[in-house]
Amino acid sequence: MEARAMNDLDIYRSLPEALLPWYRQNKRDLPWRHDREPYHVWVSEIMLQQTRVEAVIGYYERFLHVLPDIRSLAEADPELLHKLWEGLGYYSRVRNLQKAAQQVMEQHSGIFPNRHEEIRQLAGIGPYTAGAVASICFELPKAAVDGNVLRILSRILSDDRPIDKESTKAAMAAALEEVYPEGSCGDFTQALMELGATVCIPKSPRCEICPARGFCRAHGAGNMTDYPVKSPKKEKRVEQKTVLILDCGGEIALCKRGETGLLAGLWELPNLPGHLDADEVMTAAQEMGVGPDRPEWVVDRSHIFTHIRWEMKGWRILCTQKAEDLTWASPEELRDKYALPTAFRQFFEV
Ligand code: SF4
Repeated sequence: MEARAMNDLDIYRSLPEALLPWYRQNKRDLPWRHDREPYHVWVSEIMLQQTRVEAVIGYYERFLHVLPDIRSLAEADPELLHKLWEGLGYYSRVRNLQKAAQQVMEQHSGIFPNRHEEIRQLAGIGPYTAGAVASICFELPKAAVDGNVLRILSRILSDDRPIDKESTKAAMAAALEEVYPEGSCGDFTQALMELGATVCIPKSPRCEICPARGFCRAHGAGNMTDYPVKSPKKEKRVEQKTVLILDCGGEIALCKRGETGLLAGLWELPNLPGHLDADEVMTAAQEMGVGPDRPEWVVDRSHIFTHIRWEMKGWRILCTQKAEDLTWASPEELRDKYALPTAFRQFFEV
């Protein structure tokens, strides 16, 4: 059937038939696809949120090596969890993973629940992850609609509703669930993910090898990159900070962030609001009781979070006293023991 002659429902109905054989022939060999164990699929899906596949593989393998099952995750030391997650960012994800593992231990006798409503009740599991686990592990007709799937559907349907609106996501998920193929729900979810990751990519979609090109409206019209449509972006808030790299005999001062808010509960380098000059920095270090000797260097760094951009000036200061209310870490401890978010760790890459 010609793309133009097909209505939206016809197009949705064409998806499983077009995508499933393509996926089975072309899927990448990824470690979390070796089985359909819910713990494995769940951990991989949480890691893959906001992070590229290539970056996740090493983290995933290390995480499962250290924490091979739900019980070990539920009982893990939070410091170890942060260390295993270091560099992946969005640390609330790993804290929620542990909370959910504890829920599974307490409420489901350690067995990952197989009902969608129960999966959805677990900490950190939103509609996307619940849909992924429910369909891949339990063959339930539940859609997992993320940015990749929204992009594919927007293009195939020439749908110009903004994809960041919850109403768009919900409508597309509901329409997809109507056509989930019985017995192949997990493969259908993964086929959509794979198409978005390898073929219907954001900038230059590879329509020439796409199994949906026969009925894709955007491909027919040649305006693929007009989709997806997004609402205008809000400007990120900019925060200026002065970061102190206090070095006393080769050990570096760390402190803990508060238990709520951005990077909650993680280690950080001591820092102050605003951009301080050399005199102000020396005064601040004096007040911290570290016996500052001299500033060694200053370097500019920035870090972008979802809604905030930090613009940081990092001062390395040689010190003569280890103030007791700071934690002092050797280079080996910085590498192996303390989880320091990328926003701060980048000051050691000078
Ligand atoms: S034909 Fe092109 S635009 Fe349409 S789904 Fe395939 S890759 Fe995307």
